[in-house]
Amino acid sequence: MQIKIIKCLQDNYSYIIIDNNNNACVVDPSESDPVIKYLEENKINLKFILNTHHHYDHVGGNKELKKKYNAKVLGYINDKERIPEIDIFLKNKEIWNTDSFKFQIFHIPGHTSGHICYYFKNEKFLFTGDTLFSLGCGRIFEGTYEQMFSSLQLFKSFPKDTKIFCGHEYTLKNSEFCKKYDPKNKKLDNRILEIKNVLSKGLPTIPTTIEDELDCNIFLRSGDLETFSKLRDLKDNF
Ligand code: ZN
Ligand code: FE
Repeated sequence: MQIKIIKCLQDNYSYIIIDNNNNACVVDPSESDPVIKYLEENKINLKFILNTHHHYDHVGGNKELKKKYNAKVLGYINDKERIPEIDIFLKNKEIWNTDSFKFQIFHIPGHTSGHICYYFKNEKFLFTGDTLFSLGCGRIFEGTYEQMFSSLQLFKSFPKDTKIFCGHEYTLKNSEFCKKYDPKNKKLDNRILEIKNVLSKGLPTIPTTIEDELDCNIFLRSGDLETFSKLRDLKDNF
């Protein structure tokens, strides 16, 4: 299984997961063009479109991609009215197993009420959309602080070396916030050097790992709801 990071729109990432037979899933196609370009150049057949939530910058390519490849669109059952072209309704904790793709869904509300993540256990890939970012977490649009906090706690239960693929390249800006409120964290300092180095080469800072986020992400490090809520408010105006 191979994974390809596709830059979309301003700062979005879509991810193409490709098996040994050149069949693929795409996670959160913000737009169709860059995804189609990669699929065509590499003679890959798109089978499934996996959406983490309904925001336009995560589903914008659904329609075109479905039409062109006859791919199936998967999303959370409660979002079936607002995920364009949805075919398959996923439930919390459901395990999906088709062709060579096997993954589990977890409902992680907070950013939106119907946000889910996709966990590929064999590959240790986790697609977190706009819930967990590298060194940050998503804005709370539809959920409560409690929901977002408990969604983040779930991530602590995955293996430390799980690779996290999130929806946006926000890492540098997030690192500045972490540094401001966690100034003595040495691991964070090292991480910031790495991030700047990677970005200077025009490369993504993604994937990160559960371990790195546990060490450096202030939102995962905040141990209680009150601290978390305060930080989330501060970040909204940062
Ligand atoms: Zn979003
Ligand atoms: Fe987004």
